[in-house]
Amino acid sequence: MTNPQLITIDGSQGEGGGQILRSAVGLAVVTGKAVRIEKIRAGRSKPGLMRQHLTAMKAAAQICNGVLTGAALGSTELTFEPQQVVPGKYQFSIGMAGSATLVLQTILPALLTASGPSEIILEGGTHNQWAPPFDFLQRAYLPVVNRMGAHVEATLERHGFFPAGGGRFVVKITPAKSLTGFDLLERGATVSKSAKILISNLPLNIAEREAKKIVQKLSFQQQDVTIEPVESSGPGNIVMAEIQFENVTELATAFGRVGASAEHVADEAVKQIRRYLTHSAPVGEYLADQILLPLGLSAAQPASAGTQRGGSFRTLPLSRHSLTHIDTLQTMLPVSIVTQGNDEDCLVTIKPH
Ligand code: ATP
Repeated sequence: MTNPQLITIDGSQGEGGGQILRSAVGLAVVTGKAVRIEKIRAGRSKPGLMRQHLTAMKAAAQICNGVLTGAALGSTELTFEPQQVVPGKYQFSIGMAGSATLVLQTILPALLTASGPSEIILEGGTHNQWAPPFDFLQRAYLPVVNRMGAHVEATLERHGFFPAGGGRFVVKITPAKSLTGFDLLERGATVSKSAKILISNLPLNIAEREAKKIVQKLSFQQQDVTIEPVESSGPGNIVMAEIQFENVTELATAFGRVGASAEHVADEAVKQIRRYLTHSAPVGEYLADQILLPLGLSAAQPASAGTQRGGSFRTLPLSRHSLTHIDTLQTMLPVSIVTQGNDEDCLVTIKPH
């Protein structure tokens, strides 16, 4: 029998990647609405569910005893029928170096307003290209979420780099009754500038050359650039440059890899930070697509005393990820999202219908 409540999402729209899937299923858990997702990751060279996406789908089903049909490695269609969220202790292992932060991205929204606290252990990749590195989660994303009433604390226990993986972090969530929205329109004064270079099972001199470049090009103080040799299952090298402002933190990441010199990797982080600094908007490209969802949830909740529903933020020109995400949110939630702006600056406003 067909479910009249079922929302069908075309996974090939816009960006056509994994985020449509994670958002739709994550929102299904929060709203209790069933979803069918078709043409999963049709915009990618290897369409369908990869290990990271499959773990995220199973995690979503597990936290609410939901019924997941059609989800297997490579699936391009699935149906998900959520039930009531059950907060508590969970452990999810992705295997290999699939991004653990993206699995968290799928289940966190529902746990933010669950009926009790949760503790989630995530194992897999903690610092992956094309995913939020653990430090971004901790330094840039969670401080914004924590402003919304819930409290989330993330602790890294072991680094996991591509391809070996083997990382682990723990997330403790104290939920709120409802999420309060926010307006993030200005950066505020600069609080600190720093860079951290992770190096694992590789010569230390790679990190030293990267540090030198960061100090030179970003005029950071020598003592604000730290090299952290870390233990992990395989080789890894990441350059992270951070600028903390009163209202927001931006963290740019570049990944060391075979064929790219240490100087080139450092330059990639420098370019990203410079691009951010040529604008005045507080919210960077990645943070924008990630805060849309919690802000959307705050707008979708019933009005309650003292809680702001929805809000706004100023950001750099919106990425395709963000534009696609806006479509998914408007399909799944009773919210309107308006974007105004130009090539320099964009104002995003999210309101209840
Ligand atoms: P696919 O393999 O289909 O491309 P995916 O499941 O890996 O997809 P995307 O749909 O590309 O994921 O979404 C990637 C997510 O990771 C987005 O939310 C994006 O903001 C975030 N992200 C990517 N790179 C960074 C970075 N350097 N810092 C912070 N966040 C990042």
